[in-house]
Amino acid sequence: MERFSTIASLRSYLRAGKQRGNSIALVPTMGALHGGHRRCVEIARESADILLVSIFVNPTQFSASEDLAGYPVTLERDLEDCQAWGCDAVFTPEMHEMYRSKQIAWVDVDGISQPLCGRTRVGHFRGVGTVVAKLFHMVEPDVAVFGQKDAQQALVIQRMVEQLNFPVQLRLCPTIRDADGLALSSRNRYLSDDERKRATGIFAALQAGRRALVGGERAPEAVCRVVASALRESGVTEIEYVELIDAQDLKPLATVQGTVLLAVAARVGVARLIDNLVLQVGRNVEDTTLF
Ligand code: AMP
Repeated sequence: MERFSTIASLRSYLRAGKQRGNSIALVPTMGALHGGHRRCVEIARESADILLVSIFVNPTQFSASEDLAGYPVTLERDLEDCQAWGCDAVFTPEMHEMYRSKQIAWVDVDGISQPLCGRTRVGHFRGVGTVVAKLFHMVEPDVAVFGQKDAQQALVIQRMVEQLNFPVQLRLCPTIRDADGLALSSRNRYLSDDERKRATGIFAALQAGRRALVGGERAPEAVCRVVASALRESGVTEIEYVELIDAQDLKPLATVQGTVLLAVAARVGVARLIDNLVLQVGRNVEDTTLF
């Protein structure tokens, strides 16, 4: 497996590959890799000849109040994992390589960046859009893989690709969970044993919301109330949001119908955790995907 830390060396490796007729798949990550990243890598592996993982903790997606310095870094283990998962190359740029001067050119995706996480994480999706656009220009991937766990992020990237005409095919990875239902996240390592037990209440609460829909409830607020009270019962009390909205444009629903996103953000201890279900709601309620 190759490792590159400069854009120039990465580009010359990829150019040689392209000249040989190889296609490229990219999995952008912030490191502290886990089984969710692994599944993204597996999907990318099936999608192209050259599989590249980027590992970069992107400062522009953290707001001033968020702990960038405390974000977990496990680079040596990540590199071993990438090798074991069949990656051809890893891109591990330093901060000054990705941001050579103070960033003044931004990618801002209106509308869908504002609700859910956009309300509290001001500027977050501008940072995400900008770093992913930079990576797409550096790598020029044929395929890029994103996880549905970060549903709003996946939609922001999808709109960016559509509207800025990036020639990349996006693939979505389903949310990978531990046996107890907790969605895998680099932030789970901040949880104590007790907090971890409580955190499993997030997926359980989403399931309670699904049961309400299966039982025929079609008022979004009523479903959200079921989810919020299930969260509180399992000891998840610092709830940032529970929302049931349209899964295409993230706008409020008058009544629950079509492809919908049931999304939760909550703090458990110091960890801010998010999770969601994407559901097709008609007469029946089925799991589906964002795109
Ligand atoms: P991150 O390193 O947290 O920025 O995540 C890198 C990519 O992995 C993003 O596209 C995430 O959506 C995806 N990802 C993170 N956690 C999971 C998970 N539990 N299941 C599937 N994909 C995930």
